[in-house]
Amino acid sequence: MYSTGIDILKECEALNKPIWEIVLLDEIKNNHISETDIFNKMEEILQIMENATSHSIDKRVETLGGIIGGEGKTMMAYANSDKTISGTWITKAMARAFACSEYNASMGKICAAPTAGSCGIIPAAIITIAEKKGLSRQDMIRGLLTSAGVGKIISTNATVSGAEGGCQAECGSAAAMAAAALVEMNGGSPVQSFDAAAIALKNIMGLICDPVAGLVESPCSKRNASGVVNAIISADIALSGIRSIIPFDEVVEAMYNVGRGMHENFKETAKGGISITDTGLAYSRKIK
Ligand code: SF4
Repeated sequence: MYSTGIDILKECEALNKPIWEIVLLDEIKNNHISETDIFNKMEEILQIMENATSHSIDKRVETLGGIIGGEGKTMMAYANSDKTISGTWITKAMARAFACSEYNASMGKICAAPTAGSCGIIPAAIITIAEKKGLSRQDMIRGLLTSAGVGKIISTNATVSGAEGGCQAECGSAAAMAAAALVEMNGGSPVQSFDAAAIALKNIMGLICDPVAGLVESPCSKRNASGVVNAIISADIALSGIRSIIPFDEVVEAMYNVGRGMHENFKETAKGGISITDTGLAYSRKIK
């Protein structure tokens, strides 16, 4: 059973296998689930992700607090125009992350990957890059297995909860999981996958959790959009051959220490950050 990135990397080297296969073998051995059942479950998860990222791409849905809505549709229209700065694929990924976040805020069925608040990052990354590169469903499921391995390590040694570690633990973990998956889906090595995960987590280390009116809408949906971009650029940095100076396991430990050191006002209590700005408080009064 693995509990660190080093554990997985050693297994990858010893068995000459990619991360997804080590995660798969671990599930089969320790949770007594057959390979077929795991792949069927991952296909089910992928379908939930596809629905959640496409539901509000062509229509606005009503969210619980009404703070957000329509961002997925707006961003996809922009992605399909010739006006973008960051290009079609980055903006398409952002559109899907927005759409998923919006669907979550409207009580739609999402896959908490690793949490509901950060649910848009992994699906937006995997679906968009698979579409761009013409990858198969098997490739996407392998990406999901890779991200599951990274997520398990973070939740074992730190936290993926905004209430415990701030948004760095939620959107940072999701971006790290997605970055590792993208590297593997694009033919990178296990070392590069963990480097990408470390880079993504470092990129937003210290990010607080400050939801307006205590609802998972703002700034959450935009953090999902920026989180998927973080995942994509971190994967590209690692795939280019640039290493993470600090190894993944140490970055996870550092993120946890930063989270524990954060004042409680910055950990999902809606008592700090943008939630107590004049506008944030006005939304709060309006909703309550
Ligand atoms: S701000 Fe808080 S609630 Fe919103 S996505 Fe980040 S961790 Fe989750």
